[in-house]
Amino acid sequence: MQKILIIEDEMNIAELERDYLEANGFESDIATTGEEGLKLARTNSYNLIILDLMLPGMDGFSLSNELRKTLDIPILMVTARKGDIDKIIGFDRGADDYIVKPFNPNELVARVKAHISRYDRLINRDKKQNDIQIRGLIIHNDSRRVLYNGNEKTFTAKEFDLLNFLATNANIVFSKEYLFERIWGYDAIGDTSTVTVHIRKIREKIEEDPSNPQFIETIWGVGYRFKR
Ligand code: CA
Repeated sequence: MQKILIIEDEMNIAELERDYLEANGFESDIATTGEEGLKLARTNSYNLIILDLMLPGMDGFSLSNELRKTLDIPILMVTARKGDIDKIIGFDRGADDYIVKPFNPNELVARVKAHISRYDRLINRDKKQNDIQIRGLIIHNDSRRVLYNGNEKTFTAKEFDLLNFLATNANIVFSKEYLFERIWGYDAIGDTSTVTVHIRKIREKIEEDPSNPQFIETIWGVGYRFKR
């Protein structure tokens, strides 16, 4: 199920958003501060974030900056002030879209759907791109083969999926939780240690020195990143 993170300090608005999203088949979590939102975003897997600009403590812009360090999912900003629109548009690590309060909740849901499907298309298009070749590593998408320095390496299906996903989305840090849900699925049995084990096995196959990896980096406290 697609999951939305609502970061909004006005509970009545957050609940209104949640109700409409749920009525349209989305699951959602609510965070009422920026700090709480950041924590949820880093430990869960969301398809989109609805971010209120005016929050107590960390505001929407600072939060968006933080989120963009590790996430590339769509961010839909919500503002009560028309004067903020220019700032949102000019904000470089910006929001994908914005909506001004008071808004029609159906309009919000329509935007959420549009952004999620656009993002999915982007990710899928990237997946279908040509084989990945980098520093002696070749990943053949169609035949699901991996070669390192000319030698074919045997990969299990999940090892391949994990490596291919990380390499396709190079330079983006993904949490273990996100990777587990993405590769194994929401209903899979296991936990994030499954991801750790698979990363270790992948490194043994493609790294000269698995303790000093040149492809999949460990970002402590956050997750993993394929270095492009
Ligand atoms: Ca607010």
